[in-house]
Amino acid sequence: MMKFADLIEENLEELATLDSLDAGKLFSLGKAIDIPGVISCLRYYAGAADKIHGRTLKMSREFQAYTLLEPIGVVGSIIPWNFPSTMFFIKASPALAAGCTVVMKPAEQTPLSALYYAHLAKMAGVPDGVLNVITGFGPTAGAAISSHMDIDMVSFTGSTEVGREIMKAAATSNLKPVALELGGKSPLLIFDDADIDMASDLALLGVLYNKGEICVAGSRVFVQEGIYDEFVKKLVEKAKAWPIGDPFDPQVRQGPQIDKAQFDKILRYIEHGMREGATLLTGGKPAERQGYYIEPTIFTDVKEDMLIVKDEIFGPVMALMKFKTIEEAIKSANNTRYGLAAGIVTKSLDVANTVSRSIRAGTIWINCYFAFGDDCPFGGCKMSGFGKDHGSEGLHKYLHTKSVVTPIYNSPW
Ligand code: ADP
Repeated sequence: MMKFADLIEENLEELATLDSLDAGKLFSLGKAIDIPGVISCLRYYAGAADKIHGRTLKMSREFQAYTLLEPIGVVGSIIPWNFPSTMFFIKASPALAAGCTVVMKPAEQTPLSALYYAHLAKMAGVPDGVLNVITGFGPTAGAAISSHMDIDMVSFTGSTEVGREIMKAAATSNLKPVALELGGKSPLLIFDDADIDMASDLALLGVLYNKGEICVAGSRVFVQEGIYDEFVKKLVEKAKAWPIGDPFDPQVRQGPQIDKAQFDKILRYIEHGMREGATLLTGGKPAERQGYYIEPTIFTDVKEDMLIVKDEIFGPVMALMKFKTIEEAIKSANNTRYGLAAGIVTKSLDVANTVSRSIRAGTIWINCYFAFGDDCPFGGCKMSGFGKDHGSEGLHKYLHTKSVVTPIYNSPW
């Protein structure tokens, strides 16, 4: 795994290029964040591989036991197109460290870096059959994995709808366990004491990072009434100046959406928002250049039952809401079927502590957003799924605990 990480480091620019070509992702971020993150993830779990151990248990006067943590077996991984490299390694690294073999299916839109990783794995000396990449479409290649009788577990990241299909297929085949990291509609709560400049930067980045094609996008932004007007002014100014264009241009902060299907879907949501009576503050249409580019779009005067507030759009579209009290903000933030992440911007420790304990979500970011780490568990609750990636939780889901029991004195039998 260390050698594999070294080879990725040697090919860093080429891998970042493949993901940009496939997904329209910013090359600058691929080079600075995605691929270095992959290298670090591999090294983190390589370090964990020889630190997996069970426990000794007292049991009773007659018996004692120890536990063996064994690899769960063959892990099928089905991953999405928004972070092709990151997703590959947050699944493969812990599974390999646990001693499992992996059948990885990249998304049909983004197979290139996955195939390159398979080639580098071979060069690193990963034995044949240990890390397998199968390209193909969801209903065929993906479904073959989730319904396979010889695959022992499925680790999935993608939409809630497909997560449900995978769980059904797992249940009706060999009852394999599943880990599902699904959709989100994450709230960002900004309180009156926030620095408006910093908060508006964070809110914009929260919904525009990776052109909004990110499961933890802070797509519902709640701002307290005392700073609302000034916040909106700054936010809209910055959104209008947000540089859209060629993902290989280092000045650009937003590339094209992944494909026509996604582009059309986002525009349909925007039209729906306008029909339902939301006020469009900026954006709302394709950017004036060739390709699947959409202007940063901000809606206000939204109601909690509107589709643009309820559904995951997976695009550069924000729903902005005003609140008075902390109780009201918590209630609205929790008014979603998802529970992936949430952000809070405040200088008050009391407010930060109260809100972080009151919101049902897998990750709470206080005065930051999109802060990930190899050791920090990530994954949601409610309809955002279950099972964590990263950290020891990310490793332990690929391990099975076996209890080995022996008599303490001479065997009673
Ligand atoms: P997104 O909404 O991010 O495109 P999807 O959930 O549609 O995500 O796809 C994520 C992954 O799931 C992709 O690799 C896709 O091929 C796969 N997939 C889609 N449909 C199925 C299915 N019925 N069974 C298994 N995998 C599927």
